Amino acid sequence: MTYNVENLPIAVIGAGPIGLSVAVNLIDRGFTPIVFEAGDCVASNLKKWGHVRMFSPWSYNMDPVAVSLLKKKGWIEPVLTEFPTGNELLEHYVLPLASHEAIAPHLHLNTRVENVSRQYHDILRNEGRKNAPFIVRTSNSEGQSDILVQAVIDASGTYQTPNWLGAHGIPALGELAASQSIIYGVPDILGLTRKQYAGRTVLVIGGGHSAFNALQDLVKLSEQSDGMRVLWGIRGSSVNNIVRSPENDELQERRRLEMHIQKLLDEGKIEVFTNIAIESINYENGKLILQNRSGQLPPVDQIIAATGFRPDLGLISELRTSFDPATQSPAALGPLIDPNIHTCGSVPEHGSDELSHPENGLYIVGIKSYGRAPTFLLKTGYKQVKSVTSALARKTESDAPPTADRATCGLLAANQNCSQ
Ligand SMILES: Cc1cc2nc3c(=O)[nH]c(=O)nc-3n(C[C@H](O)[C@H](O)[C@H](O)COP(=O)(O)OP(=O)(O)OC[C@H]3O[C@@H](n4cnc5c(N)ncnc54)[C@H](O)[C@@H]3O)c2cc1C
Repeated sequence: MTYNVENLPIAVIGAGPIGLSVAVNLIDRGFTPIVFEAGDCVASNLKKWGHVRMFSPWSYNMDPVAVSLLKKKGWIEPVLTEFPTGNELLEHYVLPLASHEAIAPHLHLNTRVENVSRQYHDILRNEGRKNAPFIVRTSNSEGQSDILVQAVIDASGTYQTPNWLGAHGIPALGELAASQSIIYGVPDILGLTRKQYAGRTVLVIGGGHSAFNALQDLVKLSEQSDGMRVLWGIRGSSVNNIVRSPENDELQERRRLEMHIQKLLDEGKIEVFTNIAIESINYENGKLILQNRSGQLPPVDQIIAATGFRPDLGLISELRTSFDPATQSPAALGPLIDPNIHTCGSVPEHGSDELSHPENGLYIVGIKSYGRAPTFLLKTGYKQVKSVTSALARKTESDAPPTADRATCGLLAANQNCSQ
């Protein structure tokens, strides 16, 4: 059977803030999106860290095209200079957007994308490849389906694939067996998971703002709960550089958090362990014993791994992709965001060219586009989406003028480690 590929919808993988932005922008440009979301609600990753106060203000956190759509329906814009929590972003922006009559019919919740390929083409086959539709294999409670689409935009995030605690990028020996005592990401320490931490010795591992958030909440809990110890393990050799953001930082909430952690360190409320490189994790007498490169850490009850995230590239492994070998972001974007080389402030603008792959019609956007680099901001993602949807529109409307849309991460001052 032959298809007019351009009449097919465009698949969006993931209904996080960026996936929804893709849907809005595609509709705005006359395309039909089909959005697959693995969770039982939109933005189910965001919901997991909904208790965290964001360090970017409302003005950075919403897509302008989505905002104008919502405003037409009488939606009241939040105060743009205030800093929402993840839950507030969900409630006041993401959910109204997802339930908007223009978007809702295109959403398929509880539907996981398992694989993407090109119809009748495995990765090796050249002939007719360019014009073959993509095939998206989904699964939900009714079983598996194959859906044909003209293009695929992967906005599936990274929150579900955290980095390991192990020093070598692979699980530490015993890490998988200890999983019931390890939480990856930023747990709701003062809310849902309070009981798990109250009165316990808890070790946080990681040097970014997610670790800061966890430490802040653990110290607060320790003030209400006897017998707690808050331990912090970092890869670096000192904690001298906690307040990294400049005084006039646009992301003021980030600087506030850094200053608070510095204060807690000065007050001796956090025990710090430097040069952390975890080799193994074992249970002994009900406690976790971590073997570090330079010796054992004190026994602990719980570990919070704030060690960042990595992209799951498995679902597009039958497509012709090109990734930067270090960051695992699209090849042309990788060198621009590699934290070994660049600070966030020095990331040049980027757009559809840097986000594309040898497989014509495939794009990765949102936090997944940054691979393992920890510096992604929603504001950057919305610009990526504008550029990618504009490129798709140019492909179908050859007379459209070239776009100047470029995403930039120039929101953060240079010479900072701006990890989440
Ligand atoms: C603790 C924390 C704080 C942060 N704070 C900020 C901040 O202050 N400012 C800022 O700009 N950024 C912040 N970020 C970074 C980033 O903006 C967020 O992670 C944001 O949620 C990324 O949006 P996204 O849509 O790209 O991915 P996600 O929000 O992760 O959405 C991906 C969606 O895809 C779905 N999905 C995954 N796999 C599949 C599949 N196979 N099939 C179908 N669906 C799938 C998931 O269920 C999820 O709903 C923060 C991140 C974290 C973790």
